[in-house]
Amino acid sequence: MINVTKTFLPDKNKFKQYVDIIYENGWITNYGPLVKELEKRLAAYLGIEEIVLVSNGTIALEIAYRMLDLKGSVVTTPFSFVATTSSLVTNGLRPIFADISPMSFNLSPEEIERHIEDDTSAILPVHVYGNACEIDEIAAIADKRNLKVVYDAAHAFGVKYKDRSILSYGDVSTISFHATKIFHSIEGGAIVAKDRELAKKARYLINFGIANEESIPHIGTNGKMNEFQAAMGLCMLDEMEEIFKKRNFLYNRYIEGLGGCLFIPERNADADNNFSYFPVLCKTHEEMRNVQKALNDNGIFPRRYFYPSLDTLGYLENKEAMPVSNSISERVLCLPLYPELSTSDQDNIISIVRSRFEKI
Ligand SMILES: *Cc1c(COP(=O)(O)O)cnc(C)c1O
Repeated sequence: MINVTKTFLPDKNKFKQYVDIIYENGWITNYGPLVKELEKRLAAYLGIEEIVLVSNGTIALEIAYRMLDLKGSVVTTPFSFVATTSSLVTNGLRPIFADISPMSFNLSPEEIERHIEDDTSAILPVHVYGNACEIDEIAAIADKRNLKVVYDAAHAFGVKYKDRSILSYGDVSTISFHATKIFHSIEGGAIVAKDRELAKKARYLINFGIANEESIPHIGTNGKMNEFQAAMGLCMLDEMEEIFKKRNFLYNRYIEGLGGCLFIPERNADADNNFSYFPVLCKTHEEMRNVQKALNDNGIFPRRYFYPSLDTLGYLENKEAMPVSNSISERVLCLPLYPELSTSDQDNIISIVRSRFEKI
C-alpha cells in the first residue's frame, strides 16, 4: 500500500542515545535540556532569532491568537486543514472566509480586503503546500486596516521568502511538527513571534500563564513540548538535507511525468519550495474520481488535500460560499511524495494517472 506520505523514522540508535540522556537527566518535560537544544538548533538552521516549541501545531495557532489578544472576527482561508478554522472557533473568534486564488490556491489579497469587517482583528493566511502567500500585499492590507497577521505555516518548514525564513513574517507564524509533516517531532509544533516580548508571552501562555513562582500574568494553557518529542526532532534535523534532496528529486520527476497533462498550482517566485506535497488539479470532479479510483485499485492512496472546503463546515453560522475554494476542493489530489518512495513505484503512479487522461 502506498499512501500520500510515510512518516520518516530517523536512525533508531541515535534516538535510543537521546532516550538514555533523558533517563540520565531524569527530566522528561517542562522545558527540559533537549527542548532547549532543539530550539537553539532549529533557530540556527532556519535563520531566525527565537523559536518557541509547543506540543502540536493546533495549540501553536491557539497560543498565537492569545499572544495578540485577538477579538471579534478573523479573515482566513477556506482551503486548509480544518484546524486552521476550528482553532479560531474554540477560542471564541469568528472566522470570515475570503476566497483563494485559482492559480496559487492561497488567499487572494483582494478577497481579504473585501471581507474585512468592523470587528475584524486579524488575518490568518495559510502557506498552502508550503507555497508562500502574497506576503507583501497582505502586510500592506494589515498596515492600512490596523490588523494583526498570523501565518499558519504548518506546511512551510525550511521555506525562505525573499531570502528570509518564511516564519519571520507576520506578527506570529506557527508551524506543525506532526508525524505527517516534512519535519516532525512525533507530535509537535512551534511559534515564531516578531519580537522578544511576544515570544516571552508565548512561553508563559504554554505553561498555564505562569511567569514565575509568584506571578501568573496571563490566562494560559498547557502547550509544552516534552523531551521525547524533542529527541525525535533532534534526530530528524540531522536528516533534513537528505530529505529535501530526495523530495526535490521525486518532485521534479512528477513534474516531468505529469506537468503536461495536469494543472499544478503556481509557486510564489520570491520563495523556494520545500517539496512537501505534490498537488494536481483535475478538470472536473468526475475526472478526479476516476484518477483516484484507478490509483486505489492499484493500492495507491492519494489524499484530497484539502476537502471539504471549510466554508461548508456544518457548525459554522452565516458563512458565505467560496466558489473557487469549493471548485478546487472537488478536483484536487495530492499524490504520494516521501523520501522512501521508489522511482519504480513513482513511475507506476505517473503511468496510471496518465492512462486516465489518455482515455478521457
Ligand atoms: C497539520 C496542520 C495543522 C495542525 O497541526 P497539528 O500539529 O496536527 O496540530 C494546522 N494547520 C494546517 C494547515 C495543517 O496542515
